[in-house]
Amino acid sequence: MALLSRARVIEKVVSMSDLDVVGSKDGWRCWLCDAPVDPDASVNSDLGPSADSYQDAKGKKGTASTERLAHRACNTKRGKIAPVVSWSNDLLVSDPAPIFETVERLLRKGGREAVARCPSQADAEQAASWLLDRLSRLAPGTIFHTEITAGGGQYLIKLSIE
Ligand SMILES: [Zn+2]
Repeated sequence: MALLSRARVIEKVVSMSDLDVVGSKDGWRCWLCDAPVDPDASVNSDLGPSADSYQDAKGKKGTASTERLAHRACNTKRGKIAPVVSWSNDLLVSDPAPIFETVERLLRKGGREAVARCPSQADAEQAASWLLDRLSRLAPGTIFHTEITAGGGQYLIKLSIE
């Protein structure tokens, strides 16, 4: 119930023109599931557009939150918990790190974090380029860097921010 009422509140305060601004900024793609959002879909349908209010990782108290475009259903599902950003099922990765939390930590503390292990160099390269592409939409304006290191018959992908 709490989740539903939150979604309704957001719809009330975000007018259609605000939604257009948020939608164009995010290229009419859902920032949570990365699938296209139809600008003409009803805002009351599950796949319709909605604005997801997101507190920036670096944000301290009083900082404005960023509006991101999400499917209504993805936004409602999220509620107050941290967004879940899934790795693509087409990738061969083991021990994939939670993408959103990792990015937040890197923005806060910097450094370099291991995000996945792959069975071959080719798999690691594919996963790394998928991740960079995904992050270009998840955190626009931030430049990420990946590094692949071989060891123990596996290929480790590390992520950092330039
Ligand atoms: Zn979505």
